[in-house]
Amino acid sequence: MNVRGMTPAAVLRALSRARTGDAQWARGRTWSLVYHASDAHVDHLVEAYRLFYNENALSPPAFPSLARLAREVVTACAELVGGGARSAGSMTSGGTESILLAVKTHRDWFRARHRRAGRPEMVLPASAHPAFHKAAQYFDVTPVTVPLGADYRLDPAAVARAVTSRTALVVASAPSFPYGMVDPIPALGRIARRHGAGLHVDACLGGMFLPFMRRLGHDVPPFDFSVPGVTSISTDLHKYGFAPKGSSVLLFRNAAIGRFQAFAQDDWPGGAYESRGLLGTRPGGIIAAAWAALMLLGEEGYCALVRDTLTIRDQLMDGLRSAGFEILGQPDMAVFAFTSSRHDMFAVAAALERRGWWIDRLSQPASIHLVVTPNHTVAAGEFLRDLRAVAPGARTKAGRSAGRPRVGLYGVTTRPGSRGRRADR
Ligand SMILES: *Cc1c(COP(=O)(O)O)cnc(C)c1O
Repeated sequence: MNVRGMTPAAVLRALSRARTGDAQWARGRTWSLVYHASDAHVDHLVEAYRLFYNENALSPPAFPSLARLAREVVTACAELVGGGARSAGSMTSGGTESILLAVKTHRDWFRARHRRAGRPEMVLPASAHPAFHKAAQYFDVTPVTVPLGADYRLDPAAVARAVTSRTALVVASAPSFPYGMVDPIPALGRIARRHGAGLHVDACLGGMFLPFMRRLGHDVPPFDFSVPGVTSISTDLHKYGFAPKGSSVLLFRNAAIGRFQAFAQDDWPGGAYESRGLLGTRPGGIIAAAWAALMLLGEEGYCALVRDTLTIRDQLMDGLRSAGFEILGQPDMAVFAFTSSRHDMFAVAAALERRGWWIDRLSQPASIHLVVTPNHTVAAGEFLRDLRAVAPGARTKAGRSAGRPRVGLYGVTTRPGSRGRRADR
């Protein structure tokens, strides 16, 4: 190894220097990627992590504390989304792992019931997170993508046409990452039940937000286990749960389906090995810190953060409309995109980036994507001010479409022959 040991102070100095070119999330300059409640909250989570820094959740018998903490986290999340006494769940390393496991579990549940059905299929909306296509690739499930309706939601009639005897599961979002819309889950539940298929609701974004919105008296479309036909739900703690990155929960309505998630081997020379997730060794610190996040905030804390976030959302939406921009559809939460037929939206995005913002773009249609968090209290006004300043320079003749998509969500570009290259900006 060609590395000379450094002093701790030199290491920390080098790390601080390394961050200088990064997106300025602390000033609210990012609209995805970072979900920050407060500096004090993070300090507490780091302390919780430190206590369990060395513990390994691979072995519940060795660290029963982690098993108990994880169980309490899962129970709290299950209660939030209407999980009953027969529900089951586990903590995972993030939304992607929750989704990969949901697809794998439904595939194996399907195979157990249909021995000669051939390759299982998954019917999913065009707006579904790419993690579902990753799962399809990893686990040999055929993805059947259904276009969205004009309201940016999954159209149940189109789903009904796409479902076949090989459909292992239908996928819906609550809400979708690109548009912030909750799909019509009751209608999808009826279709799934009629065909004996599963219905996974991807509540990675909404699982720790929509239930509190409902408690605050807002209209929230039905999306959880209260809807017949929903067989599993993914809900991320590392988004609106304000827990550290690497924490999510996957829930099943019924443990009889959830058991297909598990892997076990008992003829290893090392003896029996068992694991429910994709990972082997799992950091105890993440479980402790995620548990700490739930306990620190509690119901009142989450309600207060949701209330603040919705206030900032309203400020942004009002400001955007009065500056001549248009919100795509009628988003259900605090995630949305805005566009304009009179502006080149990618030129607007580039101009905002020159002013220090990290901008996420959608390509269908050309628009700018915002995930609003409590960390945007100050940034929202600054964003609107900068937007009003750059907008006149990005005008197009009415009716002319805005530029070509260059950079996607998360700042990733796709070029011929290369998938998911990082943008050079
Ligand atoms: C974030 C997100 C995911 C994927 O989660 P990661 O935590 O990035 O792996 C999946 N679905 C939705 C709706 C999301 O918002």
